Amino acid sequence: MEVAAIDIGGTKLAMGIVHEGGQIIASTVIPTPKKPEDGLGAINNYVKTNWGAYDIGAIGVGAPAVVGGENGGYFLPNPSNLAAWGNFNLKKNLDQLINDSVGKKVPLSIESDVYPATAAELLVRNSLFGDLKSHSLFPFFYLTISTGVGGEQAIMDGTTWKIYRNENGVAKVGHGEFKGIAPNQKPIECNYEGFDCAETYLGGNHMLARYGLKPEDASPEMMAMVAKNLGKFLYQNELTRNSKIIVVGGKIANEWNKRYPFLDEAKDCMLMLFNQNYLPAPSLEASILGDDVGLVGWWAIAMKQLTGKWPKYQIPLIPSADYAKTFQPFPAIL
Ligand SMILES: [Zn+2]
Repeated sequence: MEVAAIDIGGTKLAMGIVHEGGQIIASTVIPTPKKPEDGLGAINNYVKTNWGAYDIGAIGVGAPAVVGGENGGYFLPNPSNLAAWGNFNLKKNLDQLINDSVGKKVPLSIESDVYPATAAELLVRNSLFGDLKSHSLFPFFYLTISTGVGGEQAIMDGTTWKIYRNENGVAKVGHGEFKGIAPNQKPIECNYEGFDCAETYLGGNHMLARYGLKPEDASPEMMAMVAKNLGKFLYQNELTRNSKIIVVGGKIANEWNKRYPFLDEAKDCMLMLFNQNYLPAPSLEASILGDDVGLVGWWAIAMKQLTGKWPKYQIPLIPSADYAKTFQPFPAIL
């Protein structure tokens, strides 16, 4: 059985076929269409094209926004860069479209994207370390630095872990009060609510206004400023502050880490603040799954909906040197 995993990003729409062990066996990326009808058409075409070649048993869709409303089908509130998607019932329309094109109702789940990403990073660690319960990974936090900034915390609840959800499943983490360093300190309006939240210092959609450059054109000076702001944010935010492990992913963090010691500098800043205040610091790690986290996350959520429990991620055989570069197994406690 395979899962069609759809990751609707603020700028890119990734679609993939994920095997029941969590491996991505096919994928494609297109710019996210501005109109939801076009986006749904692209998703429907992808499912239809792959329908015969794979045994697609479920569809999981991750949305770059809060999901709610009737049948959990809407993005709430309107994401500024996908304004037209805001009042559109994604679930109802996509259900109908897929049903018509493949002649069968396929289980479809839609949720805010950081939730599956958090699950995916935990499931990979579960496979690397064995039973998660015997490792001090909790509270565990996944933060994405992409067009927007979001994150969720996973905690141990009795004998099982669960991902902490706010009201409506909204990850409000990027939207608290924040004061960072940047060439432009003028108030910048956030598309969620209010002005000058952390997302206006860390989110890709505000970088041009805040730092004078788009994320893809970032200078070393700009990346250094954002890294410091990230370190400060991780110290200030209540949920990241009380986590044992913080995993940072998202397109911008993933890209910048390849050409700049972005997370290392964020970590230095974060550790300094924890140190100064005599607090034990969380361990800061890069995402293991990198840009695949959305698709693998959507596999995880779809499998959980089908079977009632989290699936087992089968680690693909890749050189251990690659893993060594991306993660440290034990939290650094000062
Ligand atoms: Zn905000």
